[in-house]
Amino acid sequence: MNGLDDTHDPALRSWVPSANEPGTDFPVQNLPFARFRRRGSDTPWRVGVAIGDQVLDLKLATVQCPWGDGVHDLLEPLAQGDLNAFIALGRPAWRTVRQALSMALAEGSDQGPFLELCLVPQRLVEYAMPCFIHDYTDFYTGIHHAMAVGKLMRPDNPLLPNYKWVPIGYHGRASSISLGGTVKRPSGQVRAATGADPVYGPSRRLDYELELGAIVGPGNAPGEPVPMAAAEDQLFGLVLLNDWSARDLQAWEYQPLGPFLAKNFATHISPWIVTMDALAPYRRPFVRVAGDPAPLPYLDSEFNRAAGALDIRLEVGLKTAAMKSAVRVSHSNALDAYWTLAQLVAHHTCNGCNLQPGDLLGTGTLSGPAPGQGGSLLELTAGGREPLTLPNGETRSFLEDGDTVVLRARCEAPGAAPLGFGTLAGTVVG
Ligand code: MN
Repeated sequence: MNGLDDTHDPALRSWVPSANEPGTDFPVQNLPFARFRRRGSDTPWRVGVAIGDQVLDLKLATVQCPWGDGVHDLLEPLAQGDLNAFIALGRPAWRTVRQALSMALAEGSDQGPFLELCLVPQRLVEYAMPCFIHDYTDFYTGIHHAMAVGKLMRPDNPLLPNYKWVPIGYHGRASSISLGGTVKRPSGQVRAATGADPVYGPSRRLDYELELGAIVGPGNAPGEPVPMAAAEDQLFGLVLLNDWSARDLQAWEYQPLGPFLAKNFATHISPWIVTMDALAPYRRPFVRVAGDPAPLPYLDSEFNRAAGALDIRLEVGLKTAAMKSAVRVSHSNALDAYWTLAQLVAHHTCNGCNLQPGDLLGTGTLSGPAPGQGGSLLELTAGGREPLTLPNGETRSFLEDGDTVVLRARCEAPGAAPLGFGTLAGTVVG
């Protein structure tokens, strides 16, 4: 039931030396997927698995290494560079491949000599989007974010009455999701000073949002909701997600239908998909504080109560053009989310809406309850009224051109191998 097996054994080591270094994001217990090629090679994108500071090329590995019964067929879509086709196979296939890769990359494996020839150093590769994303939905599960933003917009009524009953979300824009690198400052319509007409121009309140993104598994047919009991099987893995947001555009346009141009110009995700199976040691009970309503039955399950939440530490770094390296400006934990990923799947499909393999579900900004735990500048600066002072004396209310935002996530707990998500960095350009 808890999903733990030999692949999570914290004592497991790899024959790839860098995978055994304490600080690595990619020990043999992680095994995330990305699409990559040697930088500048102009060859078709391949699917790879991160191990330490290397990428295991699954096209080469499928052909050049002997595999156990049934594994070769499951590796075939990966060998062809098609992560969506592998995602569509579902959890039994994911688990079989995870088990096979874990054994093959573990110390003492007799597949080691074959696979050694299939490694590429991560520093020599470039990444593509890990899968094709048909549709993107962004939720609002960070209750501390919802409270903080609600206070800024509606001081007397910060949390709307539906929040504790229904997972709030909106349909985002799939075409502008990318691995990023840079984000161009958007222009749009902004409310002017009291009494004046709105104006069109560059956003002056550009912000980031610290989120996780869930990659949907096999999906469901139209008209067939996914019940909670099957919702976990619809979750392939997680990426870091930065939901770039123009707060001045947002404040003017968001009523009555919600976010639109303030959000859809760019959403960045990290290249590595950390699988839900890798995160099994970091599952935690889903709990509601006393007095809050219990989820309606269609959003409840025994497994969700026992292990629906995830202990993932998140942080945001900021580097201005004048700084040599990023400084941490906030940190939070995915445990503070008000809804679990399974609840998002069950709710999204409860009306019969169909999800497809590779769809992306954003968690919404994941903020903690304390000062310094806001997952956006909007919260950290109280809507821009209390600018952050950085170590070099610069101040920021919102992002300036040349600023780089760096998101990271890491899991650490007693009795489990620490693992991470890599980094997601994006720089604002004018
Ligand atoms: Mn968002």
